Amino acid sequence: MSSYAALTDVGLTRGHNEDEARAIELPGGGILLAVADGVGGAPGGDVASHEGIERMVAELLRLGPEAMGEAIAAANDHVVELQGTRPEWRIMATTLVGAVVVENQARVANLGDSRAYLLLGGELKQLTRDDSWVAQAVASGDLTEEQARLHPWRNVVTKGLGVQDGGAPTFYQATLEPGDALLLCTDGLFKMLSDDDIRRILLGADDAENAAAALVEAANAAGGMDNIGVALYRA
Ligand code: CA
Repeated sequence: MSSYAALTDVGLTRGHNEDEARAIELPGGGILLAVADGVGGAPGGDVASHEGIERMVAELLRLGPEAMGEAIAAANDHVVELQGTRPEWRIMATTLVGAVVVENQARVANLGDSRAYLLLGGELKQLTRDDSWVAQAVASGDLTEEQARLHPWRNVVTKGLGVQDGGAPTFYQATLEPGDALLLCTDGLFKMLSDDDIRRILLGADDAENAAAALVEAANAAGGMDNIGVALYRA
């Protein structure tokens, strides 16, 4: 039987949690998943992730599961509008990954450097590409993966809700068979765990709720260096 779950955790080293995660059954069928990671270094990251995800969810509930693009545009407008209401929120922003699963079809939209992964036939595969300065530099051959991991600009996103000219998501699609899974997560999860760790945890848990809890526990056991956000659907 399919299952879904969402969970966030402050981690072990941060003072407060700027990650948001949702897993909601849509009226008329379909599961909505979303994670958002408030961009660090600017005040209001927690406001951007919370307000952005709430607005996206509200719009999807209002407009239906096909309206991911419109829902994200509305969420971006909302964050941009909030930026103008307080000087300290002027550059607040958030990553966002949203997904709607209807029957065995998943549609995913991404902005920023949170990620979607697929477990397909027991193998883990990264579905989304990071919208980040270092990912672009790696793609163009200017940095190696290792240099990117340590680069001072490693947290600079090129897309996100509230990022200037960065509000248009990239869409991805996947087909899920029974036993497959779709995982949305913030970097506080995937920077603490290897792909093989994630794969083994997803395969070892009997439902989405247990798998999400086990992923968060493992990220904390590996150091919990950042907030952790997870939204998971298991077909
Ligand atoms: Ca983070």
